[in-house]
Amino acid sequence: MRARSLLFAALLLGFAAPVVYGAEYISGIEWAKPAIIDPGPPGGPPSDAVVLFDGKDMSQWKNAEEWIVKDGCVTAAKGAIESKPVFGDCQVHVEFATPSEVVGSSQGRGNSGVFLMGTYELQVLDSYDNETYFDGQCGSIYKQHPPLVNASRKPGEWQTYDIAWTAPRFDSDGKLVSPAFITVFHNGVLVQNHFQLEGDTPYHRAPQYTAHADKGPIGLQYHGDPIRFRNIWVREVKEVEHKRVADPSVRN
Ligand code: MG
Repeated sequence: MRARSLLFAALLLGFAAPVVYGAEYISGIEWAKPAIIDPGPPGGPPSDAVVLFDGKDMSQWKNAEEWIVKDGCVTAAKGAIESKPVFGDCQVHVEFATPSEVVGSSQGRGNSGVFLMGTYELQVLDSYDNETYFDGQCGSIYKQHPPLVNASRKPGEWQTYDIAWTAPRFDSDGKLVSPAFITVFHNGVLVQNHFQLEGDTPYHRAPQYTAHADKGPIGLQYHGDPIRFRNIWVREVKEVEHKRVADPSVRN
């Protein structure tokens, strides 16, 4: 009984402990109002996106004459393509499907790629029950970093990439000031978590940075396989405008 009384007293004290209302941390930063956008249906596009392919035509792409638009998707054929619009920091959504009829193995099976700024490859591959080198499987940053997990769907099924890209920065002498970073969700699963790129992503040599423009195209690779794509859009990513107007403080 005594223990119960003590517990009751403790609870009462706990509830009765003074709570400081009214104090508020003030950052001292004045933020602009974030833009209001319509996020659109699941999978987008949001209202502020640049739509690169909506299932109808390839007018937003260069060198895409051989790619085949049919039934709301486009199939890779003869030559890599690049978007006409160019982007720096951005969010990218791409849907793709590797061929339902499995042909080849390893890198020869369902190979394509999404190239950020036309230079840095996020690998597209049929990695469903298909062994290859890990930093070359689907969701890898080619020859630099494997995906954290293999979240591949079966051949022929539609898959999604949602990418957050931070462009590298170069100074006026072409020297690297800050590297590129990438975050990738594959079918909604985190596979690259703010990975810092070592440079470009060629097959035949180590990665390196070579100065380029602040903005570049989205590229899609043709690697001999009829990969299908649909619903491709990009949003430029910009920090909300802000300025410091005072030191941080606590207001009572
Ligand atoms: Mg590739």
